[in-house]
Amino acid sequence: FDLRNEDLKDLQELGQGNGGSVKKVEHTPTGTIMAKKIVLIDAKPSVRKQILRELQIMHDCNSKYIISFWGAFLADPNICICMEFMDKGSLDGIYKKIGPIDIDVVGQVALAVLEGLTYLYDVHRIIHRDIKPSNILCNSRGEIKICDFGVSGELINSIADTFVGTSTYMSPERIQGAQYTVKSDVWSLGISLIELALGRFPFSESSSDDSDLSDFESTLSPARPGSISLNGLPPSRPRIKTAKKDKKDKRKSKGVSLQGGGMTMSILELLQHIVNEPAPRLTPEGRFPREAEEFVDSCLLKDPDVRKTPKDLLKSIWIEQARVSHIDLETWASTF
Ligand code: ADP
Ligand code: MG
Repeated sequence: FDLRNEDLKDLQELGQGNGGSVKKVEHTPTGTIMAKKIVLIDAKPSVRKQILRELQIMHDCNSKYIISFWGAFLADPNICICMEFMDKGSLDGIYKKIGPIDIDVVGQVALAVLEGLTYLYDVHRIIHRDIKPSNILCNSRGEIKICDFGVSGELINSIADTFVGTSTYMSPERIQGAQYTVKSDVWSLGISLIELALGRFPFSESSSDDSDLSDFESTLSPARPGSISLNGLPPSRPRIKTAKKDKKDKRKSKGVSLQGGGMTMSILELLQHIVNEPAPRLTPEGRFPREAEEFVDSCLLKDPDVRKTPKDLLKSIWIEQARVSHIDLETWASTF
């Protein structure tokens, strides 16, 4: 049906993202609850209309692993995208609330994301481009779905022009300027899975203290955690605060340069680290099933030529196990 801004009643603010915000709204004529994403776009009317046309592809994206789409409209100077509301929110919020996520649940996340990515690519030739825990959503039925994929080339360009496209989930080849491929999404999935299983972002090498992560995130970018501007460095030159608890000597022995006694690391240093240092892993060794470790390692192969596609990764042992697992995500989701 035809969506109009006047028919949407704001119920709750769900979060702020890159150049926009998301609200829980009610479509009053029908009583439908939706999530409304407001994206501020500094572009000509013709470009806005083009974006709106491109967003209509989302009407054809029908998969149980993809957030469904109610419609999009212009509300000057914004573009509003209305989508399925997921009442348990995104996985970053969930792990920050409940702590590290059980590896069997993480296996279901991996399965859902790979199915979603494979659907988007095989059926629509869409590459997601922004896989990260905040774009993986969960509801109280225990369903896991991905959102915020790159359907609209014009929208991607407009956002890149005004703000960013670079995030700390970005693959080494992307950091070095290579084209996006489905394999870049696989890297981002690998980083996200480690983050969920450890309950912290893998490049902040602290093991226990949760406050380190919030420090890390709040200093990472003034506008948006996990995302930075490369189109001209942001004026505030954000620094990443690393864990405070260890003395500097420990850094060398661990081979990780991110940890230290209150040391900070710039965004560029982090990106350099991703490019030059060994990829993060599910650690400590032996804590997680070997099939999970191997899966994550295969997502985080630094050479995209040897990294598998989402479709090939669906054949991994760990994913096969996830497929036949009897884990009840509805019960899991009822615990928070
Ligand atoms: P980001 O993904 O970078 O956090 P967004 O603007 O895309 O920024 O989203 C902001 C927050 O809104 C997300 O972190 C997520 O928790 C929440 N959100 C987004 N879409 C939905 C949705 N469809 N249902 C419920 N919550 C959502
Ligand atoms: Mg998002």
